[in-house]
Amino acid sequence: MQSIKALEKDPYFRLKLIFLCLSVAVVVSIVYVTVVYKMAADIGTTTEFDATMTEARNLQYVIDTHSLAIAEDRVGDILTRHYSQSPSENDITYGFLLLNSPSPFSFSNLPPDKLHPILDKTSIMQEVNDKGITVIEGQQYVWVHLKSNANADILFIKSAKSISLAVDYITRRLIITSFITFWIAVWLALFLATWMNNKVQTKNNALAHIATHDALTELPNRLYLFSICRSEIQDLIAKQSIDHEQKIGAIILIDLNNFKEVNDTYGHHIGDAVLINFAKRIQHVLSSSEILIRMGGDEFVIWGKELDKLSSLSLSENIRIACHAPLIISDLSIEINPSLGISLLFQHANDLDNLMTYADLAMYQSKSNHLGPVVYNKTLSESYLYEAKLRGDLLDAIQKEQIFLLYQPKIELASGKIIGVEALARWNHPIEGVISPIHFIPLIEKSVHIHKFTRYVIEKSIIQAKEWLALGIETTIAVNISPYNLLDGDFARDIEALLKEHQVPVSVLEIELTETAMMNDISSTKSSLQTLRELGLSIAIDDFGTGLSSLSYVSQLDANIIKIDRSFVMDMDTNNHNLAIIEAVIGLSNRLKWEVVAEGIETKEQLTTLSTLGCQYGQGYYFERPLSKQDITSLLEENKQFPN
Ligand code: C2E
Ligand code: MG
Ligand code: MG
Repeated sequence: MQSIKALEKDPYFRLKLIFLCLSVAVVVSIVYVTVVYKMAADIGTTTEFDATMTEARNLQYVIDTHSLAIAEDRVGDILTRHYSQSPSENDITYGFLLLNSPSPFSFSNLPPDKLHPILDKTSIMQEVNDKGITVIEGQQYVWVHLKSNANADILFIKSAKSISLAVDYITRRLIITSFITFWIAVWLALFLATWMNNKVQTKNNALAHIATHDALTELPNRLYLFSICRSEIQDLIAKQSIDHEQKIGAIILIDLNNFKEVNDTYGHHIGDAVLINFAKRIQHVLSSSEILIRMGGDEFVIWGKELDKLSSLSLSENIRIACHAPLIISDLSIEINPSLGISLLFQHANDLDNLMTYADLAMYQSKSNHLGPVVYNKTLSESYLYEAKLRGDLLDAIQKEQIFLLYQPKIELASGKIIGVEALARWNHPIEGVISPIHFIPLIEKSVHIHKFTRYVIEKSIIQAKEWLALGIETTIAVNISPYNLLDGDFARDIEALLKEHQVPVSVLEIELTETAMMNDISSTKSSLQTLRELGLSIAIDDFGTGLSSLSYVSQLDANIIKIDRSFVMDMDTNNHNLAIIEAVIGLSNRLKWEVVAEGIETKEQLTTLSTLGCQYGQGYYFERPLSKQDITSLLEENKQFPN
């Protein structure tokens, strides 16, 4: 499962930004100050060197162009004029010496205790035509050593004042500039950090919204459920461990029953509008502690952190009431009919995944049994597990021939004679025992085995018919097929091949197809049934009355037998409505020359009423329950006639 952790807000994001901007400002300021300081020191040094060198060259010129005695006086004059003999604090100290000279004269205002260490230091490094700076006792001295062109070399030493002057000057200004720059940087950092923080957080919020919401309905989506609701569930569990009374929290799973038809009939744009309007209706009945989530398609979930069993049921009821009025979309009136399944935190599960599974099982139960809201209970899981187990054993059932057939006689009501049988499948499961088709047929229909299964039942029936023919028994066998068989293009050809293989006439076989099954795809049902009719097979419309088709629709289907559903026969003696329907069906079928079979005759009264109404054929426990191969063979052999 994806996580939205990556999109969660960083509470320190702005602080981090400020810190980053300030760090950059400080680093830039330090680099700036260092560079400027260095430049100032370099400028001071260069200026000092240039000035000292010019002075030294002038003195050298005097030495070179005069005799030593005159040069000594002249140089002495110049130096005493420019530099005082006994310097005060602010005066420049200097030293002037002739080297390699017959006359060792020198001038200096430096006391000997200073001059000698300077000479010691400078002489080591001295080369002719050299210059440099030497630091002695914290004081910088610039010295120039020039080669004489005539009389003698000179060494001129001077305390370097302009270096410290330049540095002092720049430093004063630098402190002020740095202070101003730093404050500008601080404000800029604050402004930039706030601006960027707002920009990034706005984008982040937008991204988080997109990731956790459904684009169509604007509702939170499954990512929201599995991250935000999941953590709310964990909080409730943590709270419950402290406050043991607190046992609340529920998931309500909602699925729209007829949504596929809406999409198929009116198109996806109407389907979308249905979902949007449905979501709006539900939101109106929710309180602020309940949240509606769209899981995808027509599946919605409500997570209510304050819901318990009673309030979940009453909320579900309110949802159903909110859905009573049809939705009006583009002048269409569309019915919405939700199925609701409820699972409760603490009572059913302590984690979201299981809560979802259980709510799904409950919802499935609500949908398949056309019930109102269903609260999960353990038996739902048990039946689900049972189904899952049977599903796993289906292939074995066919391959190991665990499926066997029972036969229920079809009686001509007027004579009481058996005119045919209906083959009804049973599964002899090695562990579960004999399983009814109402349990395993829906599972087979949902699996890929349905084609193999029907072919198996038809072949077994054909073989049975052949055995009876060999015994001189001529009777029809009706086989139930699934609507999915009609989608198989080879279905009719396979039946034909089986009949040929076992040399059984086609008139022996009847095909029964439930009315609801035929409604799925009208045009393809029609053409598949036509192919079967062209083969010469009889087609019966089974469980007639339970679907939505009209007699006129059925008349287009080329069927020749109508089997009235057991539910009409069951209470025809007390329910005038059902009696009227049976009467109408029989009347019309007789006129259209269809055979009518009444299913589920259990009493003499029912038989009498049906006979009076003109029903030709009947089936039911009143005559016989579905019988084993041996029992039905005996009945057929003795040509049993039932009382009428
Ligand atoms: P159906 O085709 O409508 O079969 C009639 C069902 O009603 C049978 O149930 C039968 O035992 C039952 N029945 C007959 N008379 C009475 C009566 O008087 N009272 C009551 N209460 N029930 C009666 P069964 O054998 O359990 O079959 C149930 C359904 O399973 C069948 O309904 C049919 O739709 C399906 N089915 C059975 N065998 C097959 C098969 O081989 N293939 C397919 N696709 N479906 C099958
Ligand atoms: Mg049937
Ligand atoms: Mg039936």
